[in-house]
Amino acid sequence: MSSANGRPARTRVEDGLDYPLGESWPAAGRTIEIASGVHWLRMPLPFQLDHINLWLLEDGDGYAIVDTGLQLDETKEHWLEIFRRFGIAHGGKAGKPVTRLIVTHFHPDHMGLAGWLNDLLDTELWITRTEWLMARMLYLDSDAVNHRSMAKFYALHGLAPDLVDRMFSSGNTYRRRVAEAPFHHRRLCAGDVLEIGGRRWEIIVGTGHAPEHACLWTAGDGILISGDQILPKITPNISVWASEPDASPLEDYLGSFANFAGLPDDALVLPSHNLPFRGVQTRIGQIVDHHRVRLERLSGGFAGGSGRARLSAADAVPLLFRREIDFHQMGFAMGECLAHLAYLEGEGTLTGRLDPDGIHRFERT
Ligand SMILES: [Zn+2]
Repeated sequence: MSSANGRPARTRVEDGLDYPLGESWPAAGRTIEIASGVHWLRMPLPFQLDHINLWLLEDGDGYAIVDTGLQLDETKEHWLEIFRRFGIAHGGKAGKPVTRLIVTHFHPDHMGLAGWLNDLLDTELWITRTEWLMARMLYLDSDAVNHRSMAKFYALHGLAPDLVDRMFSSGNTYRRRVAEAPFHHRRLCAGDVLEIGGRRWEIIVGTGHAPEHACLWTAGDGILISGDQILPKITPNISVWASEPDASPLEDYLGSFANFAGLPDDALVLPSHNLPFRGVQTRIGQIVDHHRVRLERLSGGFAGGSGRARLSAADAVPLLFRREIDFHQMGFAMGECLAHLAYLEGEGTLTGRLDPDGIHRFERT
C-alpha cells in the first residue's frame, strides 16, 4: 500500500487500536488502495474536523462509491480528478460506470454531493429510507419554521433568546452544504446484502448519531465501512434535536452496538474520519466507557453539595463540556447535553419537569 502524504506506511498501535497505515492518508484527489479493490479517498471540510474519508469499491468493470463529501467547489474538483484518474465515465465522457452511489447517512459531509454525483455519473442513490427522507426534508425546510421551532425548543431548555437568534441567523445551512438529494432512491435495509466486486457487503444499521445510519460489512475479508457510527479518536455527536424533543438518541446509539456484537475484533474498520484501524470491539468498549463517564459526571452535578439541585440543559452544559463552548458549537452542545439528560431520565436517575417560568429543569429522582 502506498503512502500519499509522504510518510512511511507502518502499523502504529495507540489506545489499544491498531492503525495499519500509521499516520498515512491520501492527499486530496488521490487514493490509497486500503484493501484489494477498496480505494480510500479524502475530501476537505472547512471545520475543526477538516476531512472526511470516502470509499471507491471496484465493482466488475466499474466502481461503487460510498459517501460524497460536502457541497464545495473544491470537493467537486477533487472528484473530477478522481474520475479522470480512474477512467470513470462522467458528464457525457465515456469510461467505466459507477454502479452504485451509496450514502451512509444524511449529514452534509456524507450527503453533500449525492445529487451532483447522481446526475454527473448517471447512477442511482442507495440509502436507507429514513436517511433519504431526512435529506429531502431538511433541504426543503423553510427558514421560518426551522427558526421558530428551534427557538422555542432551546428557550424551553434554558438558552437566552438572543443567543438562539444568533445561532440561527444564517438560516437553513443544510441547503447550502448539500445539493438537492436525488428524488428517487434505492432503499437499503438492515440485513440487505449488496454484491459488489465479488464481495458480499451486508448492511448493518446503527442509530443515535443519525436515525438509520448504514454501515457496510463484508465477513469474507473482515472489512467494516463504519461511517460515523464507530470512529477512532473521537466520538460522533449524539444529540436531541427540536424535530423530536422526546428522543433518547444516546440510548439508541449504545443499544445499536448490539448489531455489531458479532464482528471480530481484528476486522479492518474504515471510518469516515481519522484513520482506518483494527480493534472494533475494543473501540466500542471505549466509546461505551466514554459515555458512562460523562453520564456519571453529569448526574454528579445534580447531587447537591457544590452542585445545584435543579438544572436546565443550558445550566448542565458546563458539567458535560469542560472547554468553553462558543455560540457556533452551542446547538451541538445543547443537543449532546439533552441526549445525556434523556438517558439519565430514561434510567430513572433524573426527573425533568416544566417550571412556572417556562423552563424545563431536571433534578435527582
Ligand atoms: Zn454524521
